[in-house]
Amino acid sequence: MDRTLLERYDKRVPRYTSYPTAPHFHPGIDAAVYESWLAAMAEGTPLSLYFHVPFCHEMCWYCGCHTKIVRRYQPVGDYAATMADEVTLIGGLLEARPPVTHMHWGGGTPTILSAEDLEHLMSKIRTGFNVVPDAEIAVEMDPRTMTEDRVQALARAGVNRASLGVQDFNEKVQKAINRIQPYEMTAQVVDWLRAAGIEAINFDLMYGLPHQTVEDVQRTVDLAAKMRPDRVAVFGYAHVPWMKTHMKMIPDESLPDAWQRFEQAEAAAERLAERGYRRIGLDHYALETDSMTEVLDQGRLRRNFQGYTTDEARALIGFGASSIGALPQGYVQNAVPLRAWAKAVHDGRPAVDKGIALSDEDRLRRDVIERLMCDMAVDLSAEAARYGKTADNFRSEIEMLEPMIADGIATIDGDRISITEPGRPLMRAVCALFDTYLDTGVGRHSQAV
Ligand code: SF4
Repeated sequence: MDRTLLERYDKRVPRYTSYPTAPHFHPGIDAAVYESWLAAMAEGTPLSLYFHVPFCHEMCWYCGCHTKIVRRYQPVGDYAATMADEVTLIGGLLEARPPVTHMHWGGGTPTILSAEDLEHLMSKIRTGFNVVPDAEIAVEMDPRTMTEDRVQALARAGVNRASLGVQDFNEKVQKAINRIQPYEMTAQVVDWLRAAGIEAINFDLMYGLPHQTVEDVQRTVDLAAKMRPDRVAVFGYAHVPWMKTHMKMIPDESLPDAWQRFEQAEAAAERLAERGYRRIGLDHYALETDSMTEVLDQGRLRRNFQGYTTDEARALIGFGASSIGALPQGYVQNAVPLRAWAKAVHDGRPAVDKGIALSDEDRLRRDVIERLMCDMAVDLSAEAARYGKTADNFRSEIEMLEPMIADGIATIDGDRISITEPGRPLMRAVCALFDTYLDTGVGRHSQAV
């Protein structure tokens, strides 16, 4: 990769955690449509559940999540009570009792919930849904707010995967993002988790942060690798102060430029490879012993709203304000404002206020983009055949791919497209060729690298 190539292809494109992407959701998909989709779910459809807890103690300046800062517990407790009602409500709308194989708690900071509220919610979930005994139950956590008691409460509630926000271990970067989290603090939480039997551990790291250098990234990776998390995600900071006003606390001039971001991302990748982590898709890394490496080798890796996943369920139900769900018929999103979400639940109806129904053409393009994001390769004929179509469906995309092939980013062999190793950082730009919604100018996305 050289600077000219990066400049040519490093455009603002979606992260493709769904297709079509969230800016294209519209109010035509409402609670009534969602109810009909839920009622049609088949008995054997494996199901995932996502719980969004939009509260934190303090704002990190880089944060791109839907969250709110709280000083008291009461709003959190009220939210947990409403979410328990939402679990009962949605469970009651399912005519079948599909097996729940994955559960993910995100936010915000889901571990802000008290042990009692978490236990109560878990028991509601197990009553309303058919959670299988070996379901993966993953929770995102902020190490700054964890205690040993809290870790033990999570283990008692059945949590078996922990995802720790780390970002960068260097103090100057931590100060610039308003997140002071020394190495020792993170290491302590990892020890507590393992002692409590929560063995599966993910770390989230970031590049492209204010005042961050390649050396900072390398040092962070070295310290992170010492704790041997099973998976590491390395995300690029997306500076969108026009959407998230707290990002204005990060001065533009403190940020690395596109080429420095690229160098940081590659430095993290190299260092992680040296420490025994396999590179997966755009931004994930896993130990050879981890299930994500296994599913990658089997061509079964998936991508959903949490990023790369081993979760094969095609149905995901979201709970909580702003949460997104994915059903075979399409995507839905709950109301973002807490009040609107709570009012809908108290009125006894799903809080969905937008979404999008999928056509077969959308499903085909979703599958093509997902394979490119996961396997860096896709057989257009095979994918098209599953929808009664042929690779001719993509003639114009194949033409648009030609400059990328000439630039060494992708190759084509018959109807099989592959992204090259040097092209890996630009995989979103390749996927964007297959995105027929992109030209409509809705939403602004982050840079490809
Ligand atoms: S802890 Fe996470 S969700 Fe909360 S403000 Fe920081 S980055 Fe955002």
